[in-house]
Amino acid sequence: MATIILAGTLLAKPGEEPLHKHSVRIESGRIAAVEKGFAAKASGDEIIDLSDQVVLPGLIDCHVHLTAEFGPTHKMLTVEESAAAIALHAAAHARATLVAGFTTVRDLGELGGAGDAIFALRSAVAKGYVPGPRIFAAGAVISPTGGHGITCGYREDINLLLDSSGRADGIDGCRQAVRRQVHRGADFIKFVATGGVLTDTATGTGQQFFSDELEAIIATAHMLGRKTTAHAHGADGIKAALKAGVDSIEHGSFMDDEAIELMLARKVVHVPTTLAGATVAAQAKQGFLPDAIRKKALEVGPQILNTLNRSHKAGIRIAFGTDSGVSRHGDNAQEFALMVEAGMSPMEAIAAATRHAAEHIGFSDQIGSIEPGKFADIIAVAHDPLKDIRALCDVGFVMKAGVVHKCATSRTPT
Ligand SMILES: [Zn+2]
Repeated sequence: MATIILAGTLLAKPGEEPLHKHSVRIESGRIAAVEKGFAAKASGDEIIDLSDQVVLPGLIDCHVHLTAEFGPTHKMLTVEESAAAIALHAAAHARATLVAGFTTVRDLGELGGAGDAIFALRSAVAKGYVPGPRIFAAGAVISPTGGHGITCGYREDINLLLDSSGRADGIDGCRQAVRRQVHRGADFIKFVATGGVLTDTATGTGQQFFSDELEAIIATAHMLGRKTTAHAHGADGIKAALKAGVDSIEHGSFMDDEAIELMLARKVVHVPTTLAGATVAAQAKQGFLPDAIRKKALEVGPQILNTLNRSHKAGIRIAFGTDSGVSRHGDNAQEFALMVEAGMSPMEAIAAATRHAAEHIGFSDQIGSIEPGKFADIIAVAHDPLKDIRALCDVGFVMKAGVVHKCATSRTPT
């Protein structure tokens, strides 16, 4: 018994020309065949009629934080919510992300106090207990004492109580923190190469780890078979991370020409997170951010679009990432319009969220395109995203591994 999707327009392999009037045959959660024309219904087969829709692979967000959602009450919630509460809220965030059309995410770090929520969620989704995207998780972000990602802004004893397992200083500390994340179940390692916007300390957005510490983090991760990614705004930290061998750069806000050259030479991926930049810049004007954060938000926010324009023009590989958790979970697709505003074509932006994202997370043999053998991660939209990319903000059909999670648009089978 098979499920057959009748696709009016099919972006089977984003980056290549769309196909028209094709059928996608799904068996046991995977794509069995992609055939020209609308297949006739055989007995026992289920037909999903998306003949007036644009059908494309499930979207992939390479930068989310499912265990958090930033907002005016964030600081109080951090000390009020138990790890169990965080896990349940994260499940709701995961569901919102999935029904928005994102069938796979990379979770780039829990905050202090979240316990093992992200790993529990990854497992619960994989077992089908709760709906959500397939999750690849970093666990705790590796950060130096006082650095971005370390709990701050409370009394010091409360800060320490909320400390995460990613705090690391010196070569030995860095090696141990990476090993600890791998031991906890991390799929990859995220570290802070520079200061960050949403840290309530006036430490700027420059380099935060010494080069020998960066080398220790990356060498340990690679030894244990894990890719690394660096949170990085300032050019000094971006370049130090690149020279130490990092695999990708998140944000990359102030990358200079030398950084761009290094990224090209080392085939390092850029995950721009323009939505996070736009979100913090808007929050800075609402007035609830502390002074130290507001100053950085106004500086970094508007910069990210310009940076994506330069990195894309230079030919750096871009993978889609939103930093959702800074913005609201489920709003992930708002990133697309910003990518197009930064100079990417709609097709390039879609490829960044499908094929290139799948390659970036090392899972391109399973997801990222609609081809036989891959997971049946398939979405559909009513309007053509190649004409107006904002069509992806209104996903009407979501299938993940052959299971339908949303079906607002398909017509009654005939
Ligand atoms: Zn982030």
